[in-house]
Amino acid sequence: MEKCDIKSLTYEELTAVMEKQGEKSYRAKQIYEWLHVKLAEGFDEMTNLSQTLRNSLKEEFSFTCLKTVGLQVSKLDGTRKYLFLLSDGNIIESVWMKYKHGNSVCISSQVGCRMGCRFCASTLDGLERNLLPSEMLDQIYRIQRDTGERVSNVVVMGSGEPMDNYDNVIRFIRLLSDSRGLNISQRNITVSTCGIVPGIRRLAKEGLAITLALSLHAPNDQVRRSLMPIANRYGLEEVLDACHEYFIRTGRRLTFEYSLVSGVNDNLKEAAALVSLIKDQHGHVNLIPVNPIKERDYVQSDRKAVEAFRKYLEDHGIAVTVRREMGRDIDGACGQLRKRFIDNSRGGARDGDMCFDGHRESPDL
Ligand code: SAH
Repeated sequence: MEKCDIKSLTYEELTAVMEKQGEKSYRAKQIYEWLHVKLAEGFDEMTNLSQTLRNSLKEEFSFTCLKTVGLQVSKLDGTRKYLFLLSDGNIIESVWMKYKHGNSVCISSQVGCRMGCRFCASTLDGLERNLLPSEMLDQIYRIQRDTGERVSNVVVMGSGEPMDNYDNVIRFIRLLSDSRGLNISQRNITVSTCGIVPGIRRLAKEGLAITLALSLHAPNDQVRRSLMPIANRYGLEEVLDACHEYFIRTGRRLTFEYSLVSGVNDNLKEAAALVSLIKDQHGHVNLIPVNPIKERDYVQSDRKAVEAFRKYLEDHGIAVTVRREMGRDIDGACGQLRKRFIDNSRGGARDGDMCFDGHRESPDL
């Protein structure tokens, strides 16, 4: 039988398990604190537990602890991109960014992705598997331990589609925001989706105060379908209706992500169509100059086009920001670092110019 994954258990579940084993309930409190506050790397760090108890925990539970196999640090802004090795040999990536208002971590929710968005590197090799709640938490835990600085914001915007791993993502959010754990405010957690309508509607009813970001990327279904296969399944009307329900039920303003691709979705006619599409929605637009991947020939909109698009939205009453490109000198968007790492390990350093700072080790793949 597979061992139970201790870091994915809620406080209540852990308490019930310990009591069933005849342990005092304060043991659960101690263990939970080791896992989620002290961010322990294994049972042996739990020095206020007896050796006998530690041994029996090892017998009964699996302990998720990601191993850092790559780290790139931006010389421009200190952004740190981590590659983590999972216990089954898979690799995922996470990014740490320093902002004035605090430190933010962008985590992956799946190994790979099956959504097939045309400009995205995470999806090129399809979906490998879902991440466990503990594997999502540990991206943050390992980074906080490594930097020694508190993480205050978490965005689920790395590889994977969170609505395609719904239950694990919800459990992850509850554990992450638990006051007995890392206690990250739900208001500082953002989940980004490509627009899976049943998932959005379900999330609206969870009673969570997180921010929902929708990857919009186009002002009409036709352009959207050319960029995102999921748009064939759920049309914009339905997706935006679900987003509106999210706002009504949670009171949380939405974020609409719009990656600007030169000649595809970045002219002012498209800006005008975007204004009519979302003028009655409660949210703001985050423009992202698309980060070109070598497997596709999409080109980033130039500065002038981005600025004109931004200004058009602003002049027409839409709140808009342009995403600052963090870590521009290290591998850019979503899944690119991981993809390059894996391709290099398979094919023998094709690109050859990886500049890992610090503790790079070769994983057994
Ligand atoms: N699956 C989720 C979250 C992951 S991607 C989603 O689709 O929202 C996070 C955001 O980055 C999405 O808006 C995604 O469309 C965008 N993105 C992915 N690759 C990109 C690239 N190469 N350039 C610009 N944006 C990209």
